[in-house]
Amino acid sequence: MKIFDAVVVGAGPGGMLLWERLTDAGLDVLLIEAGARSRDGAAPPPSDPGLWAYEMGDGHPLAWRRVHAVGGRTLGWGGFCHRFPQSVFEEGGWPYGARTLAPHYAEAERWLHMTRGGRLRPEFRDAARRLGWRFAPLRGARVHGRIWTALDARAAGAAMENRIAASLDVAGRRATGIRVLQPNGRSEWIAARAFALAAGPIETTRILLGSGFGETMPSIGRNLVDHMTTGYLLVEERPAPPSDGASNPAPFLQGALVSRFTGPGGADRRPYRGGFSIEITGPRRLSEMPAIAEALGIPPLEAMRSRVTFINAMGESARHEGRRVTLSKDRADDLGRPLPVLHMAADSRNALMLEDMNSACLAIAEAISGKTGGELHPLQETSPGAALFHESGTCAMGGEGRACDAWGRLGSVDNVWVADASVFPSGGDRHPTLTVLAHALRVARSMSGSLAQG
Ligand SMILES: Cc1cc2nc3c(=O)[nH]c(=O)nc-3n(C[C@H](O)[C@H](O)[C@H](O)COP(=O)(O)OP(=O)(O)OC[C@H]3O[C@@H](n4cnc5c(N)ncnc54)[C@H](O)[C@@H]3O)c2cc1C
Repeated sequence: MKIFDAVVVGAGPGGMLLWERLTDAGLDVLLIEAGARSRDGAAPPPSDPGLWAYEMGDGHPLAWRRVHAVGGRTLGWGGFCHRFPQSVFEEGGWPYGARTLAPHYAEAERWLHMTRGGRLRPEFRDAARRLGWRFAPLRGARVHGRIWTALDARAAGAAMENRIAASLDVAGRRATGIRVLQPNGRSEWIAARAFALAAGPIETTRILLGSGFGETMPSIGRNLVDHMTTGYLLVEERPAPPSDGASNPAPFLQGALVSRFTGPGGADRRPYRGGFSIEITGPRRLSEMPAIAEALGIPPLEAMRSRVTFINAMGESARHEGRRVTLSKDRADDLGRPLPVLHMAADSRNALMLEDMNSACLAIAEAISGKTGGELHPLQETSPGAALFHESGTCAMGGEGRACDAWGRLGSVDNVWVADASVFPSGGDRHPTLTVLAHALRVARSMSGSLAQG
């Protein structure tokens, strides 16, 4: 029987970067992915309830944005990437800070082909001065004039598709193999010296709970965190900048990141954790986005003369004991895996943050549009409990009683690592993927060191 050095579960960006670094170290590593390879680079959300059904703890509907395909959620992402500031690590109780992560951030930025931060547009510089807030140039993963996806990574060609990891077999302090199912029900058992789970916080937790780790580590599944968003579309009757248009190699990246607020407008520090940041994307010609112009009821001629700027706030929903992932006791999918149950409790601190996010977005819109005025159209709000798209937590790392150590290694066994946002002790105030990748690089170092020692 073949024994791999390692099996990596999940071919999203985290699993792929980990696979590349482990194979660079000369290891024999299998990368398995539950979904198929997308032919056109796009991937619809999973529609097969036989394989991807879940339950809600309170029975309420949830808009869960997920992708099961080689490339993971990068097949539908915006590619905006910024490092977490030191305050996120301190307030969230992370086992390390921004300095420890800096070299891994730099390596992940190169891997993602991230753009350099350019110069701020004059109207953003003016707005920053007027408000006394710091605006930084927006950065993102862009390649060949489009948004980078994990299909651009070398590992994309290596992923074994349609392989759904179900559970790990454990003997004492070692996992010996992983049970893998195909959508047609075929089952195989794959042996390896080490295992890494990069299937995203819900699926990674489902595999760990399905393997019985919940009994020895009751913290697994707890502290499910996510982001809330709210914002506005600012439509102004003035020309879009000349660099705009389909030929722009980095659409939307002429915007700015404004971080990080706790009670803008001089309000006392608010009771919510961390804070939030605001991404300003654009401005672009409205006529380049006909669907938006139509939705706003702006006729094509007027759209030619108008430009649009997105002002979007993002912050972590409040920590709550009731937010967690468990396994259903009586319902399973077509392959016999118990369904994950998502518990999405929320409290009044979220409303306060949404209030502050709104007023900060409005202040920025006013400062940008200045004398020209402009029309504001609210963007759809994603409130806690109603949506899930940046899920994190459930297997937090570092510290007493947490599931993983500071390298993402699971506490109760010696050869299982968690390489996705499950390990985040907090969700942070901005997009998560750059931090997921920096963590995956730490996992690669820990795993290869451990395998080298036998
Ligand atoms: C609409 C949207 C826009 C976003 N925009 C941004 C952005 O601009 N910037 C940013 O930083 N982040 C963004 N994100 C978040 C970003 O996509 C994720 O942070 C990132 O993809 C996480 O990478 P990952 O590899 O950990 O997980 P994923 O990308 O989710 O990949 C996990 C993979 O594991 C596979 N898998 C799951 N279960 C199993 C199993 N049992 N066996 C085998 N494989 C399995 C899945 O099919 C999937 O392919 C966005 C997310 C959404 C939904």
